[in-house]
Amino acid sequence: MTLTEELGHWVRANCPAELVGSVFKYGGGSHQAITDPAFRAWFDACFDRGFTVPDWPKAYGGAGFDKAGVAALREAFRVNGAPVPLSGAGAEMLGPLLLEMGTDDQKIRHLPKIASGEIRWCQGDSEPGAGSDLASLQTRASAQGDHYLVNGSKIWTSNAYMSDWMFALVRTDVDVPKQEGISFVLISMDDPGLTVNQIELINGESEFCQVFFDDVKAEKRDLVGQENRGWGIAKRLLQFERSAVGEGSFIPRSSSLPEILQGYAPGDVAAGNRVLDHEMRKAAFDLTKKRAAAEQKTPGAATFATSTFKHLSTRLESDGLDITVALMGAQGTGWHGTGFSNAELATTRKMLLSKGFLIAGGSSEVQLNIIAKRVLGLLD
Ligand SMILES: Cc1cc2nc3c(=O)[nH]c(=O)nc-3n(C[C@H](O)[C@H](O)[C@H](O)COP(=O)(O)OP(=O)(O)OC[C@H]3O[C@@H](n4cnc5c(N)ncnc54)[C@H](O)[C@@H]3O)c2cc1C
Repeated sequence: MTLTEELGHWVRANCPAELVGSVFKYGGGSHQAITDPAFRAWFDACFDRGFTVPDWPKAYGGAGFDKAGVAALREAFRVNGAPVPLSGAGAEMLGPLLLEMGTDDQKIRHLPKIASGEIRWCQGDSEPGAGSDLASLQTRASAQGDHYLVNGSKIWTSNAYMSDWMFALVRTDVDVPKQEGISFVLISMDDPGLTVNQIELINGESEFCQVFFDDVKAEKRDLVGQENRGWGIAKRLLQFERSAVGEGSFIPRSSSLPEILQGYAPGDVAAGNRVLDHEMRKAAFDLTKKRAAAEQKTPGAATFATSTFKHLSTRLESDGLDITVALMGAQGTGWHGTGFSNAELATTRKMLLSKGFLIAGGSSEVQLNIIAKRVLGLLD
């Protein structure tokens, strides 16, 4: 039996029937208990096999899979309609970073709790005065013996209100060029000096937060890499983030466009051509991703090509949802109330949310700048 067949068999045997085809999005953490018994059973079965973080070493809760193994598992989940058991900033961003750059102590204390879903992480990069120009960040961390005291504010912090820990960029030196005075620290969200305010989004949800720090403690053993060398770590982390967004893990998937066309505008030739054009772009993108994966020298490594994939995948997803809503006509304009199905209401909100992914993790314009400089070698 090949690995793909073996994994497919395992998924069919362990994924409860009522979960098949569902889109559970679980990021773990003490604030998000799993209440659905079927998903609980599925998560536990996956965790026992190391399938919540399949490419991590077994010592930290993974399955020790190589690239081919991870691809086979993803395919087994996809083909059998099984939900991905765990996603989010811990599993997809901080975990891979700590595996590469963390101390043994950091790996042992933090990684197993991500794999088991016990701890949820959020990302504290952006500030009211620092987004695309992230190196301008002002949140200060002053050294005090075995810890830092952090003061300042982070904004657009996804899911901060339901996170247990934050990985954050802080300024540890103000007397050097801005990139050279930044450090990467891990902060417990339980600190009494930390305040989290939720911000309402255009789609009606409030996963965004602003976080305020008033003498918040960050232990020095939770400094990742060296003091004042956090900028290089931030760039590496952003590659993992863009890679995860490029893989589509953070993006809500849109429904099949041909099905939407069939349901809302059958026989409309102009609409059909628009759908055809989009499906061809998507197919070409999927093939490009496969080719890039096959050509990648270091399996699983995030590279500057991740900027290309982040830009294209978010663009395609957003365009696909624009076309979907246009095909739905008046049914695509609902916000709440009767006259619209739940699926229609959800699609309109998803279309609005997809605009955020053109910005999150570095805007499309910033990705295009990186592609111009680092991939195409054009002048600044
Ligand atoms: C859905 C979502 C989730 C997010 N989650 C998090 C999170 O969890 N943690 C976190 O720290 N941050 C998060 N962010 C914030 C995100 O990283 C920033 O919004 C992003 O980096 C842009 O920064 P800004 O909003 O300050 O916009 P600005 O940097 O002010 O940019 C404004 C506009 O100018 C353009 N622009 C800026 N510089 C250039 C340039 N050099 N060349 C061309 N155009 C340029 C941008 O593309 C944009 O259109 C999230 C954002 C979104 C939308």
